[in-house]
Amino acid sequence: MRLGIFGGTFDPVHVGHLVVAVNARHTLALDRVLLVVANEPWQKVGNRPVTPAEDRLAMVTAAVAGHPGLEASTLEIERGGLSYTADTVEQLADEHPGAELFLLVGADVVASLDSWERIEAIRGLATLVAINRPGTEMVELGANGPLSGWRALAIEVPDLEISGTDLRDRARTGRPLDYLVPEPAIRVIRSRRLYAERG
Ligand code: ATP
Repeated sequence: MRLGIFGGTFDPVHVGHLVVAVNARHTLALDRVLLVVANEPWQKVGNRPVTPAEDRLAMVTAAVAGHPGLEASTLEIERGGLSYTADTVEQLADEHPGAELFLLVGADVVASLDSWERIEAIRGLATLVAINRPGTEMVELGANGPLSGWRALAIEVPDLEISGTDLRDRARTGRPLDYLVPEPAIRVIRSRRLYAERG
């Protein structure tokens, strides 16, 4: 089995994420792509309030429902505490012996890989897939690049200029999320009153 791992805060999930997942699945002939919802994203803790993990999971679950090969993963939420990718990759390697693991990360994230916890564990278990977007800086795969020593490859996906910050602001101020966030995930936002103005 060829298994894609796409981790994120998904606060909220949007079509940029889903375009990455479906294109990685197609280009790399992955059997499944797991959208792994971070429990407590350690890079974001303390910067801004993060929406409760259960709500972010509900949005991702709704967004991928019925799409072949895409799945929401509860693994980091069930583990609890801070979410480290190394733990996730190790657990998936244990649970799927013989599977080939592909870790999908945005090109912007590659630059900060050195700061990740137990990066050597990830390097030994997964192929790193850098997601390049036209118009943004491409990851260099050669011996002098940030991924030397890795099994790594890069794929290109359409650049959709969508950010969680803008979407949260849209939801808070009542502007449309349509076509930026999948309809079923918008329904979760509305029914749970996520990102609503407080007070
Ligand atoms: P924000 O801080 O705006 O909420 P983020 O990129 O930090 O956004 P995550 O949900 O953690 O949010 O992102 C998960 C993954 O999706 C990361 O690897 C990121 O590079 C990638 N990603 C985020 N937005 C896009 C987009 N518009 N197109 C393609 N990939 C994206």
